[in-house]
Amino acid sequence: MNGGISFWYADDGLPAVREPLGGDLSADVAIVGGGYTGLWTAYYLKRAVPSLRIVVLEGRFCGYGASGRNGGWLYNGIAGRERYARSHGREAAVRLQRAMNGTVDEVIRVAAAEGIDADIHRGGVLEVACTPAQWARLREFHAAESAFGEKDRELYGARETAERIRVADAVGSSWTPHGARVHPAKLVKGLAAAVERLGVVIHESTPVTEVRARRAVTPYGTVRAPYVLRCTEGFTAGLKGQRRTWLPMNSSMIATEPLTAQQWASVGWAGRETLGDMAHAYMYAQRTADGRIALGGRGVPYRFGSRTDDDGGTRAETVRALREVLVRMFPSLAGVRIAHAWSGVLGVPRDWCASVELDRSTGVGWAGGYVGSGVATANLAARTLCDLVRLDAGQGGRTELTELPWVGHRVRRWEPEPLRWLGVRGLYAVYRAADRRERSSRGAGSSRLARVADRVAGRG
Ligand SMILES: Cc1cc2nc3c(=O)[nH]c(=O)nc-3n(C[C@H](O)[C@H](O)[C@H](O)COP(=O)(O)OP(=O)(O)OC[C@H]3O[C@@H](n4cnc5c(N)ncnc54)[C@H](O)[C@@H]3O)c2cc1C
Repeated sequence: MNGGISFWYADDGLPAVREPLGGDLSADVAIVGGGYTGLWTAYYLKRAVPSLRIVVLEGRFCGYGASGRNGGWLYNGIAGRERYARSHGREAAVRLQRAMNGTVDEVIRVAAAEGIDADIHRGGVLEVACTPAQWARLREFHAAESAFGEKDRELYGARETAERIRVADAVGSSWTPHGARVHPAKLVKGLAAAVERLGVVIHESTPVTEVRARRAVTPYGTVRAPYVLRCTEGFTAGLKGQRRTWLPMNSSMIATEPLTAQQWASVGWAGRETLGDMAHAYMYAQRTADGRIALGGRGVPYRFGSRTDDDGGTRAETVRALREVLVRMFPSLAGVRIAHAWSGVLGVPRDWCASVELDRSTGVGWAGGYVGSGVATANLAARTLCDLVRLDAGQGGRTELTELPWVGHRVRRWEPEPLRWLGVRGLYAVYRAADRRERSSRGAGSSRLARVADRVAGRG
C-alpha cells in the first residue's frame, strides 16, 4: 500500500470524522490544527481552567498530519539546543534539555492516566555508527549529550552493539534511556478522545484560511477568541501570509510485513529501542508492536512552492531507496516484503530551531518548527503555550516553562522560490554524496562538503 495517510492508520483504522464548524462562534481559546501540539495544548489548558471554552479547528481529522504518520520516536531531542546555548547561555539550554527529558516521562504518564494504549515501550534510543566517519560524529554527539546532563547515556563498541542489534558494519552505538517507542496514530487518537472527554469542542473538515488578531477564519464561519493558537507545523505555509515561515520538509517511511521468528533471531533488537544512525541524511526506525520494522528517512526533501503531499503518497524511487537502507543495515532481510510506504511533512524554520510564542498584542500564539523531533517536543511546547496564555490572562504567574530560551524566539523567513527549492534540493544532494563518500572511503573525518552545507543551510 502506498499513501493512505500512513501504515499506522492501516493498522488501527481511520477515525470517524467529527462535525465541521457550523457558523460563527465565540470561544476563549481557538486552536488551529489537531495534531499533538494543538491537542496537548487543549488538554493542559482545559485541565488547568475547566471553565475555558476551547475550540479545536482541524482541516481534515485529528492526526491527519505528522502526528499520525511519524516514526514513533518519543525521545528527548530538541531542535536548536546548541543555538539556544549560544544565545541564552549554557545554563538556559541545560534547563531546556532537562525539561525535554521530563517530557518523555510526562507523555508516558498522561497516556497511562488517560487510558491511551499507544503500544508504548520504554526501550530508550539507540544510535548506531556504520562508518568510521559516523563513529567519530557519534562519539562527539555522545560527549555533547553527556555534557548536557545525560549521565545515564552509554557508549558501546561493535561487540556490545551486536549483542543488542545486528546492524551490518556497525562500529559502535550510543544509547539513552530517555526515549520510548510509540504507535503515533493510537497516541493522537487517544489524545483527541481525552480532550473531548474534558469538554473541548473539536471541529474537523474545517480548514482555517487565515489566522488574525483574535480570530480564526474558515469557509464555514469565523471563530472569535482572545487567544488563537496556530498549531499547524509543516502545514503552516498553507495559511495566508505564512508561505515562507516554516518550510514543509518531507519525510518518508516504509513498514515491512511482520518478520518471522527466524528473521527476528537474525536481527536481535530484543530491547525494542528506537533506532537511528549518524548519516547526514539519517534514517530512523522502530520495531513495531506487531513485529515489523518501520523505517524512515528523507525521500524527496521538499516540493516546489511549499506544497504538501497527497495523503502520504510516496514515489517509487523513495520506496526503493528506503528499502536499500533497510537491506544494507539488515542483509538477512533482503527478501522481506514492504507492506506500506507513506510520507508526511514537518516544519523547518530558517535557523532549524523549535520555538513557542504568544504575541500579547494580537492574542496569536504558535508552537512548532520541531524539525523532525516533535513527538515529545510538542508536549513541552503545549504545556508552555498553556502557561503563556494563563500568564497573559492573569490566571497564572511566570513558570519554569515560560522562562525557557525557546519562548519568544523569532527568525527570518525562508527565501522566495526558486531559491528555497534549489537550496533544499542542493542540501540533500550534498548530504547523500557525503554519505556515499564516507561509506566508500572509510575515512574517519566527516565530509567537509557536508559541514559547509550545514553552515550554508543555517544548521550549524
Ligand atoms: C514521516 C515523519 C516521521 C517523523 N518521525 C518522528 C519521530 O520518530 N520522532 C519525532 O520526535 N518526530 C518525528 N516527526 C515529527 C513529528 O511527527 C512532528 O513534529 C509532530 O507530529 C508535529 O505535531 P504538530 O501537532 O505540531 O503538527 P501536525 O501533526 O502536522 O498537525 C498539524 C495539524 O494541523 C492541521 N492543519 C494544517 N493546516 C490547517 C489549517 N489551515 N486549518 C486547520 N487545520 C490545519 C493538519 O491537518 C494537522 O492535523 C516525524 C514527522 C514525519 C512527517
